[in-house]
Amino acid sequence: MRVFGGIEAGGTKFVCGYGTGPQDLQAETQFPTTSPQETINRAVDFFRQQPEPIRALGIGSFGPLDLDPDSPAYGSITTTPKPGWQNTPLTAALQQALAVPVLIDTDVNAAALGEHHWGAAEGLDAIIYVTVGTGIGGGAIAAGKRLHGRTHPEMGHVRIPHDMTEDPFEGICPFHGDCLEGLASGPAIRARWGQAAETLPAGHPAWALEAAYLGDGLANLILTLSPQRVILGGGVMQAPGLLPLVRARVKLRLGGYLTIPEITEDLDAFIVQPALGVKSGVLGAIALAQEALEE
Ligand code: ADP
Ligand code: ZN
Repeated sequence: MRVFGGIEAGGTKFVCGYGTGPQDLQAETQFPTTSPQETINRAVDFFRQQPEPIRALGIGSFGPLDLDPDSPAYGSITTTPKPGWQNTPLTAALQQALAVPVLIDTDVNAAALGEHHWGAAEGLDAIIYVTVGTGIGGGAIAAGKRLHGRTHPEMGHVRIPHDMTEDPFEGICPFHGDCLEGLASGPAIRARWGQAAETLPAGHPAWALEAAYLGDGLANLILTLSPQRVILGGGVMQAPGLLPLVRARVKLRLGGYLTIPEITEDLDAFIVQPALGVKSGVLGAIALAQEALEE
């Protein structure tokens, strides 16, 4: 029996899973992301405690990441603003400690892969997975493969319309101010309204504004990447009633231009929640591990 390890490496917490898929996730743990050394050691300990040695490891990580196979820093976290984590050779450290093949991708590409294998995007070969949480990020499967470029897409940092009269909030992205993430991430909501997103009731003006930003951002992604389905995850999307508002805004912004039935007839099935819930990332990491072994 081949068993795999998966790590969803987040800026707030690490989630580790041991198993072969959603029906066979035999062990799982999570712990806060502290220093790189302490956090990596905890992950290594978790896998070493399991009954069988893992055959390969997959990592879905926060970034930015060096994903250039020819780079000496391949698999490292690079210019993150997270203190202590700049230039952390995450992949190399885990590969050395566990001595198995390791495959890394962005957290959102891993989540997209998990949903593609076992969730809301089974059988599709063009999808986008966007998370709206502490940050905003997007992953994609294009032509059946995880989408990469020179590095990896950074879908949360695109600029969208921002009317300073209607919303005089400058945005919180340290790089761009009012990019999509700077305007619509969980911490942006908190900074604008002075309270955490989960405490803002349905019907609060925060939600119409949030849906407008997310819908504008998604419409741009849909026009750019032409997905068969869009999966929207992350803590902020738990807000009751937000998803339908986002769908309505996407429809408005697409302006009737795209005439595929997925959009004109069944928008509810086109923009969906993750079927794997909060486990898309860690299961996607296990799917990456399976790929690592096949390579
Ligand atoms: P991360 O992005 O760090 O992986 P999450 O996806 O859980 O974490 O997102 C955390 C963000 O989601 C926080 O900014 C929090 O305020 C927000 N959030 C969590 N639960 C809810 C909720 N029920 N409604 C709205 N926002 C929420
Ligand atoms: Zn930005």
